[in-house]
Amino acid sequence: MLYAHASRVLHIESNPGNARALVQRHQQQDVWINPPPLPLSTRELDAVYELPYTRQPHPVYGEAKIPAYEMIRFSVAIQRGCFGGCTFCSITEHEGRIIQSRSEASILREVEEIRDRVPGFTGVISDLGGPTANMYRLACKSKSIEAACRRPSCVYPGICPNLNTDHKPLINLYRKARAVPGVKKVLIASGVRYDLANEAPDYIRELATHHTGGYLKIAPEALSDGPLSKMMKPGMDTYYRFKALFDQFSAEAGKEQYLIPYFIAAHPGTTDEDMLTLAVWLKANGFRADQVQAFLPGPMATATAMYHSGVNPLRKVTRNSEPVYVPKGARQRRLHKAFLRYHDANNWPLLREALRDMGREDLIGNGKRHLIPTYQPAGTGGAGTRRGKPFRTQHVRGKSRSGKKYS
Ligand code: SF4
Repeated sequence: MLYAHASRVLHIESNPGNARALVQRHQQQDVWINPPPLPLSTRELDAVYELPYTRQPHPVYGEAKIPAYEMIRFSVAIQRGCFGGCTFCSITEHEGRIIQSRSEASILREVEEIRDRVPGFTGVISDLGGPTANMYRLACKSKSIEAACRRPSCVYPGICPNLNTDHKPLINLYRKARAVPGVKKVLIASGVRYDLANEAPDYIRELATHHTGGYLKIAPEALSDGPLSKMMKPGMDTYYRFKALFDQFSAEAGKEQYLIPYFIAAHPGTTDEDMLTLAVWLKANGFRADQVQAFLPGPMATATAMYHSGVNPLRKVTRNSEPVYVPKGARQRRLHKAFLRYHDANNWPLLREALRDMGREDLIGNGKRHLIPTYQPAGTGGAGTRRGKPFRTQHVRGKSRSGKKYS
């Protein structure tokens, strides 16, 4: 409970405009945590990004292929920070909630530098982004209100009326970047915050028309209100609105394009029923995830405090705090991932067992309305269940909210 309380205090004291130093007693010593630094100005941020980087991996790697380098090789960071406040993520804690944006000129200089100096450049900028694709130059309408604010998010439970959601500077930047001689295409690979994008349909039009390579990954993360409220993510109606606009603008551009939604398994607040509902939705919508991620408690994230304490630090922590259901243990975590990969025959024995336990045998069968079949293809399903063989550990290859792969 004290940890949950400490986590809550830490997040309340995260705005450099009003944060106070925190002191925590550890036996005979105190740990002193300074308030977060003031955000860098555009000029300062430009200076940081225009230092004479080599844009090459360190020579110690020799000829080795470095996946992280491949991802960033032709991409440009346009801003730092995030005011989303998703509880499973700590970008807000380590990059700040106030967006720090580079100038247009500095970003365009970097695009030219990639064109002129990076070996293997074929004319495609793989990303113009940051922790979130579309927070460039977005900020609270008033500096004094911003300095006094203690909300953990500017967009949850709804978009704050004080938030400026004008996407014009970002649209102008995209237009100028793709007009740079030698640049054929500019893709956007960072995660699009679709609740914000819904406020600027022109941005969605620009994205669908010029910056999407067939598929756009976005992250609803959950379907049910239980987990969504613990993640501080918008509801699915926001997703459907974005999808309608994306589909409309893709069609107008004569492009066949799809959204690929990402979900997290085993997040605090997620019951087996929530994952079942999600699996049924995935199947009904024809989604078959090839990679899925299960929640891992990471340092400083609010969801980590939920995971360990079982209470909700988004509200005042008391003895009567709202309990948070936390899926834990190898079997349940594997089950939640299995729901996301309901189409993988290796998961069917575990899913059949769970569906029977949940009284949902009606979803086992060989028809379209069933989630999983009754038969088991030869050579599959050997991953073990509660009653069967030992569990097989699966490697979780995930992506952060910014769309960057975990290393
Ligand atoms: S008042 Fe609203 S927009 Fe301004 S910082 Fe607070 S939550 Fe964000």
